[in-house]
Amino acid sequence: MATVAAERALHLGAHLSIAGGLHLACERAAELGCDTVQLFTRNQAQWKAKALTDDDAAAFKRARRERGIRTAFAHDSYLVNLCSADGSIRRRSLAAFVHELERCERLGLAFLVTHPGSPGEEAGDETGVKRMARSLDAALRRTRGLKTLVLLETSAGQGACVGRTFEQLRAMIDGVSEPERVGVCFDTCHVFASGYDLRTRAAYDGTMEAFERIVGLDRVRAFHVNDSKKGLGSRVDRHEHIGRGEIGLEAFRCLMGDARFRRVPKVIETPKEGEMDPVNLGVLRRLALSTAPRRKVTRVGWGAERSKIREERSKVATPPAPSEGVWG
Ligand SMILES: [Zn+2]
Ligand SMILES: [Zn+2]
Repeated sequence: MATVAAERALHLGAHLSIAGGLHLACERAAELGCDTVQLFTRNQAQWKAKALTDDDAAAFKRARRERGIRTAFAHDSYLVNLCSADGSIRRRSLAAFVHELERCERLGLAFLVTHPGSPGEEAGDETGVKRMARSLDAALRRTRGLKTLVLLETSAGQGACVGRTFEQLRAMIDGVSEPERVGVCFDTCHVFASGYDLRTRAAYDGTMEAFERIVGLDRVRAFHVNDSKKGLGSRVDRHEHIGRGEIGLEAFRCLMGDARFRRVPKVIETPKEGEMDPVNLGVLRRLALSTAPRRKVTRVGWGAERSKIREERSKVATPPAPSEGVWG
């Protein structure tokens, strides 16, 4: 039986709701037994953000301290498109992005995860990547000295979105004057949907080897741990419960046991309906502990999971709040 300390050392968490206040994301994480949380710092579906007050920031920091949340980071609004073909949308996105980085800094968040945008069908990847780098660079120059890092999220390549190849991510990072302020958030669903296989040990190793060669594994500062409803190379972004999608359990066993990423925070963005966060986190914890050296290997999977789920559920004092995010 895993100890609480061992589970917390996994740097595992979830994207959690801020309904009722930012600080409640920390409470919800703790209720799930997590020391890691991803949140929106604002209503992510609107351009206008409610001002962050000193009280909000203080309450968040207090809850985080009291609940032992080691890593907290934000996901950017989906409206932001830093490489839009429309100059006015690009400027608006840049202003919103700078504002968001400043909010993150005030909250003491480690990262702001952002999706490389879409330049539109006609512009093409190269233009999109260049515009993305230019906007990102402008945002960094306007926020000199901030500690919050920008993480470019690997893209599923839906529509004309850029960031779906490792080369494109590398080019974006190379295009800014302070690359040390930019990392990558590796989303397993997106990487798989964009065409990099992860389903077997050999496939996982091959994909990570490619990432290492092209971008560098030290750039990976966070993982979004999601299975995929759609197939390899589908370029469709639909998240699925861990082990229940097209990727399957083996990829997650490889990831959770990968010593190179032991200290890299990992959050799930799996579907929220049915209060499945404790289930998905339970699967990942058992995969991690089953791959740890000198531990008895326990059977991991949905069959074994069900018997343990009542216990997990009983630890959750209140059901996880509905997500304000729609993944995919
Ligand atoms: Zn993601
Ligand atoms: Zn997604």
